[in-house]
Amino acid sequence: MNKDDCIFCKIANGEIPSSTIYEDEDFRIFLDLNPAARGHALLVPKEHFNDLFEMNDELCQKAMALAKKLAGRMKEALGCDGFNLVQNNGAAAGQTIFHFHLHLIPRYEGDSAGFTWNPKKASLEELEELTGLLRKN
Ligand code: AMP
Ligand code: ZN
Repeated sequence: MNKDDCIFCKIANGEIPSSTIYEDEDFRIFLDLNPAARGHALLVPKEHFNDLFEMNDELCQKAMALAKKLAGRMKEALGCDGFNLVQNNGAAAGQTIFHFHLHLIPRYEGDSAGFTWNPKKASLEELEELTGLLRKN
């Protein structure tokens, strides 16, 4: 189902042109207009989902398998040295377009893309508390 005011619905379904590098019945992959690095692309489902949590498992599996396939193809074509898959959910996590998308980002030695964070030190107590909170048997 499409959402009327969603730009990625319009791109995914071909109503707005994009630099498409792959398309099938479920997904479109197109180049990002503001690339973090040369060849930065976005994988989007044709159906509208706000984020990962709304996506069904079957589509998630297909998306990851497709990302693997395209990343391999892009690595060969672009000669990149590494590859990031980035997927933001929620404004707090940097999501700006609220239609699920997976960033496919080729990386090159010495590029300035830089997906880093400031690592903190976790205490043993904190690790234990979080393990208790998050682990389900
Ligand atoms: P995010 O911050 O994870 O929501 O990523 C949104 C991405 O969409 C950004 O990297 C934008 O540069 C990209 N973007 C926004 N509009 C377009 C567009 N019309 N065509 C291609 N990429 C776009
Ligand atoms: Zn949409």
